[in-house]
Amino acid sequence: MNATLRVDLDTLAHNIAAIREVVAPAQMMLVVKDDAYGHGVERVVRRAAAEGVTWFGAFDVGTGLAVRAHLGGRARIFVWIAASARDIVGAIAADLDIGIGDSILLEEIATAATRTHQTARVHLKIDTGLHRNGVRPEEWPTFVARAAQLQHQGSIDVVGVWSHIAEASDQEDDAARHIYENALTQAAEAGLDVKLRHFAASAAGLAREEFRYDLVRVGAFCYGIRSAGGPHERSLGLSLVSQLEARVLRVHGESVTIDVGSLDGIPSSLGMRVHIGTPSGSRLLQDVGSVESRVRSWPGAQPGDTVIIYGSGHHGELTPTDLAERIDTIGEEITVRVSPLIPREYAGD
Ligand SMILES: *Cc1c(COP(=O)(O)O)cnc(C)c1O
Repeated sequence: MNATLRVDLDTLAHNIAAIREVVAPAQMMLVVKDDAYGHGVERVVRRAAAEGVTWFGAFDVGTGLAVRAHLGGRARIFVWIAASARDIVGAIAADLDIGIGDSILLEEIATAATRTHQTARVHLKIDTGLHRNGVRPEEWPTFVARAAQLQHQGSIDVVGVWSHIAEASDQEDDAARHIYENALTQAAEAGLDVKLRHFAASAAGLAREEFRYDLVRVGAFCYGIRSAGGPHERSLGLSLVSQLEARVLRVHGESVTIDVGSLDGIPSSLGMRVHIGTPSGSRLLQDVGSVESRVRSWPGAQPGDTVIIYGSGHHGELTPTDLAERIDTIGEEITVRVSPLIPREYAGD
């Protein structure tokens, strides 16, 4: 008996259904980057596809190809990081939808498609203020004019225009949306008939109707991870999909030692800052070592007892976002760090 990440696929399905209902008639893209936020991409995409999800957001081409292998030809798979020539060729061959945020990549994709007699399906990205990647507004008219030319030549098919926003304040997001609207107008003026407009992720997509457009890219909320500082999971109609369990190794006086540490992905900064769930309710996490940690003891504690590092709170534990808030990060930072060496156990196929 060792540490285990329990993943409840029925809860995933429930969250997906709740989110799709809110964002409709916009479609929902399930974001599965970072091994589906630590939940295991294969089981997550298989279940989501069985629930009728058709759009998957993979981030990198490697993940996109894995999703294609799991789901076959039906799925639409969006990747937005193509890091090499090999990535580009692979993405086109596997019929992935490719996000393009700079003019060099645009040319490389068009050239690769021409060489292999294919048409690359692309989504052009405007930088609306996040400065991560994306074409700057002053360069956008030239960029969309060139994309229209390449589409006319047959190497690319521009199906989408998209952006990514901070979702930190409504005011900043409104300013970003203003830039996005201008970019859509300019794309139309360049002769592009854009079918898929996508702009928002979990937080703005659920909270703000005018941010949904045709497609909402949702990661965190599908896994039941609320935004740091944001509304509670339950008020959003969502539940946490995963629960991280560990075992008691030794009991000694005031403390017990458990079998997970920072090498398993538990941030050492959580020591003395959070409680975890035990058979007698919440107890202070005293110290996080590299492979073991110490927790304040409880009456009757025994080696082999299960403790819960994070979960829905039934045993006094906190959620990933509760933990994250204590160390100034976000809930998905907690879940994606759970070591791949910790086995995932799935309930509800
Ligand atoms: C991670 C990511 C998302 C999903 O964000 P959540 O807040 O987890 O819903 C959407 N779009 C892009 C471009 C992303 O990188």
